[in-house]
Amino acid sequence: MSEFLYSFNEGSRNMKGLLGEKGANLAEMTAMGLPVPFGFVVTTEACRKFFRDGNTIVESVMEQLHEKIQELEEVTGKKFGSGENPLLVSVRTSSVVNIPTMADTVLNLGLNDKTVSGLAKLGGSNEFALDSYSRFIRMYGSVVKKIPQAVFVSTYEKLKSKESLKTQYSEEELLYRTVEEYKKIILRKTGKPFPQEPYLQLKEVISAMLGYWNSYATMTYREFHEISRDIGVALVVQAMVFGNLDDDSCIGTVFTRDPRTGLKGTCGRFIVKAQGGDLPFADSVVRSIEEMEDFFPDVYRQFIKIAALLEKHYRDMQEIEFTVESGKLYMLQTKKGRRSPEAAIKIAVELVEEKIVDRKTAVAGIKSADVDKLIVDAFHMEAKMRPEVADNFRTIMTWVDEFRVMGVRANIDTPEDAGLALQMGADGIGLCRSEHMFFGEERIYDFIRLIMAESDRERSRALEVLRPYQTEDFRKIFLIMEDRPVTIRLLDPSLHKFMPKSEEEIRQLAGKLHMSEKKLAAKIKVMHEENPLMGKRGARLAVSYPDIARMQTEAIITAAIEAGREMDGMPDVSVMIPFVSTAREFSKVRSIVDEAAAACFEKMGETLDYSVGTMIETPRAALMSDKIAERADFFSFGTNDLTELVYGLSRSDTENLVEDYVKKDLLDRNPFYSLDQRGVGKLISMAASDGRKARPKLKMGLCGDHGGDAETIKFCRDIELNFVSCSTLRIPGARLAAAQAAIDASVKND
Ligand code: PEP
Ligand code: MG
Repeated sequence: MSEFLYSFNEGSRNMKGLLGEKGANLAEMTAMGLPVPFGFVVTTEACRKFFRDGNTIVESVMEQLHEKIQELEEVTGKKFGSGENPLLVSVRTSSVVNIPTMADTVLNLGLNDKTVSGLAKLGGSNEFALDSYSRFIRMYGSVVKKIPQAVFVSTYEKLKSKESLKTQYSEEELLYRTVEEYKKIILRKTGKPFPQEPYLQLKEVISAMLGYWNSYATMTYREFHEISRDIGVALVVQAMVFGNLDDDSCIGTVFTRDPRTGLKGTCGRFIVKAQGGDLPFADSVVRSIEEMEDFFPDVYRQFIKIAALLEKHYRDMQEIEFTVESGKLYMLQTKKGRRSPEAAIKIAVELVEEKIVDRKTAVAGIKSADVDKLIVDAFHMEAKMRPEVADNFRTIMTWVDEFRVMGVRANIDTPEDAGLALQMGADGIGLCRSEHMFFGEERIYDFIRLIMAESDRERSRALEVLRPYQTEDFRKIFLIMEDRPVTIRLLDPSLHKFMPKSEEEIRQLAGKLHMSEKKLAAKIKVMHEENPLMGKRGARLAVSYPDIARMQTEAIITAAIEAGREMDGMPDVSVMIPFVSTAREFSKVRSIVDEAAAACFEKMGETLDYSVGTMIETPRAALMSDKIAERADFFSFGTNDLTELVYGLSRSDTENLVEDYVKKDLLDRNPFYSLDQRGVGKLISMAASDGRKARPKLKMGLCGDHGGDAETIKFCRDIELNFVSCSTLRIPGARLAAAQAAIDASVKND
């Protein structure tokens, strides 16, 4: 057995890495005894050798190709290049990972001026043979010589219109002239005649199709999707069968379940007397697969049995391609079928009900992007999930939580968000951005009064106005979340973010606050920061205005105790200090929080357990995580700020720049959507490990926008974080991704 070429009877479905998906499944179907036209696979190892040898098929591999063709001749009883009984083959790409930029198919290889007459004898008509020949030249021209298909199509159309005008060509003449014109196109465009020698045709086609693996388009795609060049691509070389031979012939593509709805039962199309890959020329009618029973009752029944067998064998919905040649069925491909998000969850649930797969396999096979899409459609488009879809969704999410190890919490701003988070199945609140509560219609004015306060008395009066708002909001959140963890972050943004910008806004606000415009404008000027994202924010605010941190802590503790009195037990409360960069700074703010909490306990005559932790969102905090961990109860990696600061790239001003960099292949993807695991991730991983060394039981999570991204979630699982926290609508997708990360890890540990 050569590592470069594998006959179908030498492989199996487990050899996808070597044979590609198509090749591995053709080998599997051959082993199952299904009617597969015989052939062989040019393996990914041959692909790698091809590039190592300077993009050539060297003599030794060419000899092996000869042997494989001879084997094919023996099996089919036909001969490559024979004018009497010619063997023709198809060459198809067999990818290990799906890459849309690869060449697709070349059919009818082996046809030339001599073998075309042999095919006419076999097929019973010159028209059929000439038609097949013209298709081969066209596919050769486009795949090997990169001549646009349109050049061939327009030539054919011209010939056809001449024919209809003068009505002088017979069908056979038209096809004969088409072949001749196509050959001229090849000569004109390449300076070389269309190759007549079948082995030369084979060598050229294989070389060209392997060559697509390193085309500019494929390289760009590979880089973007982080697909290694070493994976390579395989090709399938297979004896031709003809769906266009006669009226008893057809081609078809069928799903074993409806890919749109997931409904059980075959669903697909077939075309009588047609050949794949030549749609511009197909005048034939596309029919639904059920109609096949009327056209070919026996073959239909045979096919339906095979389809069911394949689904059972592969334990998933299959997408199948077949050809019927003169009443005989041939299987050309089977693979995991594409499906809509709605179909994906229905199929997963039903495969479990039908005992075809277990729950783990069902959960592992769903894409979290599909779950995200179902939720977004249901909420943003007000389309609401249909009851059946909602049922399936609930079932899947229950299974998801059976496998999930890591917590999935929500990032929220208000009590309303908390309600939604619970509905989405959040385990708790990972980040409540407390400042958002100040953005309400009247509240913003009260908050600005606080900012404008000029004396302690004024400030404390303003704080007393804000206190009940915050207490009430926190109380509602605790009541909604019951005993689930709730992490409330102290005020983070620079205060001037709350102030008006335009003259008109300043005028309006001054009127509202009964204050002179001049005074207001002067205050805004004093507060101005050139770079507020690196200015007086987060922990720095608490250091400058401890009474704000004190009021917020008192609101949190009061609300928690009040909620606890209404419920059966106390809520699970955490106070989070944002934008910390030194351990001393953390300690300072922590002491403000602890003192305020103690005062509150005293006043209320009751205590509760609470923890105080920090966001790790500045590079310095990450680098000093061991020191911070000595004093903090938990960490939450704020990957929005951390990404900005590690890259030195603003998340709000650089969208265009990032897009440009991705296009120019200088970034793989937007680092604000999916965590840059190699750079920012390296820092996080180091900080997590140092933090854990200092405090082995340190709880750690991630709460940047990356918390809803499946790849990032996998990364968090790998470095053993305790939870991720993300926006509410991404929670179901994140739960699924967390379950899949756990399943993945358990497989690796098997
Ligand atoms: C972060 O920086 O990742 C974070 C969650 O905080 P914010 O987005 O509010 O700055
Ligand atoms: Mg932040």
